[in-house]
Amino acid sequence: MSNIGHLINGEIVTDSTRYQDIFNPATGTISKQVALASKETVEEAITAAQAAYPEWRNTPAIKRARIMFKFKELLEANANHICKLIGEEHGKISHDAAGELQRGIENVEYACGIPELLKGEYSKNVGPSIDSWSELQPLGVVAGITPFNFPAMVPMWMFPLAIACGNTFVLKPSERDPSSTLYIAQLLQEAGLPDGVMNVVNGDKEAVDVLLSDQRIKAVSFVGSTPIAEYIYSTANANGKRCQALGGAKNHAIIMPDADMDNAVNQLLGAAFGSSGERCMALSVAVAVGNEAGDALVAKMSEAMKDLKVGAFSDSSNDFGPVITRQHQQKVFGFIDSAEKDGATIVVDGRAPEIAGYENGFFVGATLIDGVTQTMQSYQQEIFGPVLQVVRVNTMEEAMQLIDDHEYGNGTCIFTRDGEAARYFSDHIQVGMVGINIPLPVPVAYHSFGGWKRSLFGDLHAYGPDGVRFYTKRKTITQRWPSAGVREGASFSMPTMK
Ligand code: NAD
Repeated sequence: MSNIGHLINGEIVTDSTRYQDIFNPATGTISKQVALASKETVEEAITAAQAAYPEWRNTPAIKRARIMFKFKELLEANANHICKLIGEEHGKISHDAAGELQRGIENVEYACGIPELLKGEYSKNVGPSIDSWSELQPLGVVAGITPFNFPAMVPMWMFPLAIACGNTFVLKPSERDPSSTLYIAQLLQEAGLPDGVMNVVNGDKEAVDVLLSDQRIKAVSFVGSTPIAEYIYSTANANGKRCQALGGAKNHAIIMPDADMDNAVNQLLGAAFGSSGERCMALSVAVAVGNEAGDALVAKMSEAMKDLKVGAFSDSSNDFGPVITRQHQQKVFGFIDSAEKDGATIVVDGRAPEIAGYENGFFVGATLIDGVTQTMQSYQQEIFGPVLQVVRVNTMEEAMQLIDDHEYGNGTCIFTRDGEAARYFSDHIQVGMVGINIPLPVPVAYHSFGGWKRSLFGDLHAYGPDGVRFYTKRKTITQRWPSAGVREGASFSMPTMK
């Protein structure tokens, strides 16, 4: 059985005293083992990143960008292999993995523009013979901690931009599906990155806690569930680090009575069940305004769900695959049980999926639940499975209040033909990413990604312009070169231009 190691100072390191099993979620069998880094291993990675920093910081931005251009080429050339690694460990269907990879590559493309992004600001003659400018300097060694659900894309929200800005990096990917992440880091190395600039340590809480406490780490980017995001944010802050911690979600779609229902159903199908609902932007709640809209939605949705194909990643005719672990499968089943006990109606039940040839896989069939209310546990918590819940309300105001009252505020969407309603919704709703007839409003790489409320701890969103700000600190320099013979006397008042 092959062991997955770490990438430290340009070398793969596999020695460890602790290992964790990696499963193929479609078959339910153990396929590999990943080394879990000890404190010493993580410190070794930080030492390598610290040593590489001075030279990398002073490497011209255009040269750093050239490595990103080469990295993009290598990602594209090796896309099939990366998608296979994702599919084997995460379970997502190959076309979905290809989409995730493409979104990651778009962040590399953004990082290719780093000479332009770091240009800074300049003001001549802010005073007599005085010029002033602001520049964005890198922070030093920065860390990323990422979740299982996007093993390629989410790490690439972080390290390409951080490294392009002149930082060095230590990444701790999810220990559940680490192979594609490690391989991608090796491609960056192959693109010409000097040893030590990019390091990957696989591991669990033990590794994370070193990254949160070591004084050489200047900033931490985290993406994962809300309880861990909160822990990461408070611990990193207590240790004097800059931190952005993106957490969980419960994304609602409002279905207005005037919505194009066939379009809404098609959009919701992919957004609710794609990637088995294991997306932080998955639409897990449909809020129907009016019973007519609710009845039409449930009727059309349950009909459309009959055609969904669930299975292994390698068959590209499948719509989605298994969930990540047996434990998670049971947790999703538990949420469906609880909704039923709480009085909701299970319209389409995915608790007994039959996938020929994959009887031991961690599959959950697409599930539709009607009559869900705000007090139900299945409504309040993130399920992270292929489960769409329908809540019925009477007005758009009620629908918006429901969304605003939820602890999460990652993404949301409205299906309507009414521009005024859509504009009011996007203006007032307390959610960070909003779609209008767009079910998965994941911002493109040149905007930034982030939720509100308990979906994000920190001020700056991930990637895009906020990413540049997160991975740099501003320095403002004011200079005068006094002409020979012109000397000002001492002044004790605050300098002004009055
Ligand atoms: P998770 O919180 O279990 O793990 C995320 C990372 O934290 C992993 O690297 C893991 O090793 C580490 N970790 C886990 N427990 C820890 C602990 N006790 N102490 C320190 N580190 C710990 O999340 P997951 O299950 O891998 O991913 C799914 C979650 O991520 C969902 O809640 C989903 O909504 C969220 N997510 C959010 C976004 C976003 O942008 N907001 C994007 C993707 C996923």
